[in-house]
Amino acid sequence: MYNDVISFIRKTFNTPSDFIPLHEPRFIGNEKKYVMDTIDSTFVSSVGQYVDRFEGMMREYTGAKHAIAVVNGTAALHISLILAGVKKDDLVITQALSFIATSNAISYIGAEPVFIDVDPKRLGMSADALRTFLINVELINGIAIHKPTGRKIAACVPMHTFGHPVEIDTIVSLCTKYNIPVVEDAAESLGSTYKGQQTGTFGLLGTYSFNGNKTITCGGGGIIVTNDDKLGELAKHLTTQAKVPHRWEYVHDYIGYNYRCPNLNSALACAQLEQLDIFIENKRITANKYKTFFNQPNINFIGEPEHSKSNYWLNAILLPTYEERNMFLTETNNQQVMTRPIWALMHRLDMFKHCIHDGLATSIDIENRLVNIPSSVIL
Ligand SMILES: *Cc1c(COP(=O)(O)O)cnc(C)c1O
Repeated sequence: MYNDVISFIRKTFNTPSDFIPLHEPRFIGNEKKYVMDTIDSTFVSSVGQYVDRFEGMMREYTGAKHAIAVVNGTAALHISLILAGVKKDDLVITQALSFIATSNAISYIGAEPVFIDVDPKRLGMSADALRTFLINVELINGIAIHKPTGRKIAACVPMHTFGHPVEIDTIVSLCTKYNIPVVEDAAESLGSTYKGQQTGTFGLLGTYSFNGNKTITCGGGGIIVTNDDKLGELAKHLTTQAKVPHRWEYVHDYIGYNYRCPNLNSALACAQLEQLDIFIENKRITANKYKTFFNQPNINFIGEPEHSKSNYWLNAILLPTYEERNMFLTETNNQQVMTRPIWALMHRLDMFKHCIHDGLATSIDIENRLVNIPSSVIL
């Protein structure tokens, strides 16, 4: 039934018969050279020139004033939420439609996610749904209180799903009215822009991931960005065991974390960042081919939303029904063309079943019908 789709994907990826993965990394630049440098220098761990270079390149790429390199995107979220002031038992507004890491990071602090719906065109947090939810919130002594439960809303974490930007300017201005800091989960959207500005740089803090399946990878790694000098300094301090700088004394002034990105991984990150713009251009050409091909009544390709430039990390289509989604997944995977449904919504998982949500009508519809299709950079 989907043979035309399968042959189109095989042709697009120049792969007539072999397995086609969903997203595989490409190491076609200075990766080996830089990684060998770290080994030759013996600086493979958390101190080294590539860690500083990684941060410098991310400052330059995003335009953020501070960039702090950490071990992964989840750690970047964890530290950013602490820096935003989130405490045990607070509520944090986010999406049920996201990778588990977003809600996990909130839980590490003992805070609890509140799930609001996503925008059907953007797949990330809906500004309208946020506006509606905030009707239940009032400012008391400068603190946002969720009226039905009396609990503090300490942060809002929108996520740019598959690299498609949310209406982040509206989300930030809504949150600002309620004194709610925004931590942007830009793990999937490195290089995507909204109204010409890099995603990840609109909120108080933003986080990126360099995991193996992301647009570019360093094996494992993450970045925290902020324009706030104090938070930038604290982010570095907290992620390096909160050691008070001294030539030999070991004194620590907070419960810190061993979250610094090693030099070995940072070397890989530097080489990958050099190629980021080329990779994104390549991915956008593939996305446009998909868009043209899926210009048909039954399958809906998720294209770049208004005012945005998407990195098209993972291409996505909507099938007409849950049954057809399952048929599509079965046929493509049977024929060695890897496809995948979206994550099970967070409010279905045991750990988050009790969390507040707004009904999530759009998220549920997308969960039932969306499939990711192969999206690697084509050599
Ligand atoms: C990948 C991802 C993360 C976490 O990144 P890691 O580097 O794997 O820890 C966080 N949030 C979202 C939405 C992601 O897709």
